[in-house]
Amino acid sequence: MSANYSVDIPAGAELCVHGGPYHAAAQDNMVDLFARRLSLPTRAICMTDVLSPSQVRTFSGCEVRWFYEHLLGLPDPPTATMALHNAIRTALMTNFQYKVESKADIQTEGVVGLFRRAWKQQLASTNFCEDEVPQAIGKTGEALVRIYMHEVAPQIRPAAVERPLRGVLGGVRIRAQVDLMDEDGTIIDVRTADAAPARVDPMQRFEWTTCSRLAEAPSGVVRSDILVTGNTPQLITEKWEVSAADVQWTDALYPLAQEAMRRGYYMPNRNSIHCSRHHCPYWRRCEQDFGGVVEP
Ligand code: SF4
Repeated sequence: MSANYSVDIPAGAELCVHGGPYHAAAQDNMVDLFARRLSLPTRAICMTDVLSPSQVRTFSGCEVRWFYEHLLGLPDPPTATMALHNAIRTALMTNFQYKVESKADIQTEGVVGLFRRAWKQQLASTNFCEDEVPQAIGKTGEALVRIYMHEVAPQIRPAAVERPLRGVLGGVRIRAQVDLMDEDGTIIDVRTADAAPARVDPMQRFEWTTCSRLAEAPSGVVRSDILVTGNTPQLITEKWEVSAADVQWTDALYPLAQEAMRRGYYMPNRNSIHCSRHHCPYWRRCEQDFGGVVEP
């Protein structure tokens, strides 16, 4: 086997990702090996002391993607899907920030204008695949913003927008952010997807249970408003309540994820549903480092 990352790691080597004492020489761990090869400063020390739910979701989907992003701090240029989501989110959250004070939405075409401006900014850094047409994606984004503003926004009475949260779950310090919470305590998750989901994603559930547990006066109800791209842009809504099983899920996963992150060995997960050239910004680097082929 001659993978590019191969390195002799002594038995019993303990990595420096937790910031505590370590027994092996610094060059013996995967973090420093990659950082040195890529001429990057190691960001490993203490990086896993405070976790975010999105970080754990990334780690659960693909450890190497998390390693590139959080331990090596490699640039994370958005894919078209991520850029579209960022631009839509920027436009809608600006509307809800305004609505907290004014109690009224910005006119729909005004929010579409906010989307256009945000999309233009995203274009400068986005990595498009060969089969993606930025102009067409932008038009889809405009259609989705109009759908959201017509069908959903008028019923939302925002109490909190992009509010930072902190706390301890399962003995692990957590930093999170609730994007949108209604006055009735419902946490609203606005996101973009390529296709209608068949079920509530367990890691999305993990993420929003975390927010519900750390937020002030949550009702325990979470609603996902999913803006689906594709030939016919549409909005799908999923509503669910945080259960005792969800609470157990978060209490169990945080300490496990923290220990696994400190392990220092990270597996690429080519079976992840998010492992594709359209969804992972690191696919070229991942092919170089580990071989194999990342499918479009
Ligand atoms: S290309 Fe796939 S395996 Fe590689 S980092 Fe991205 S998600 Fe992980």
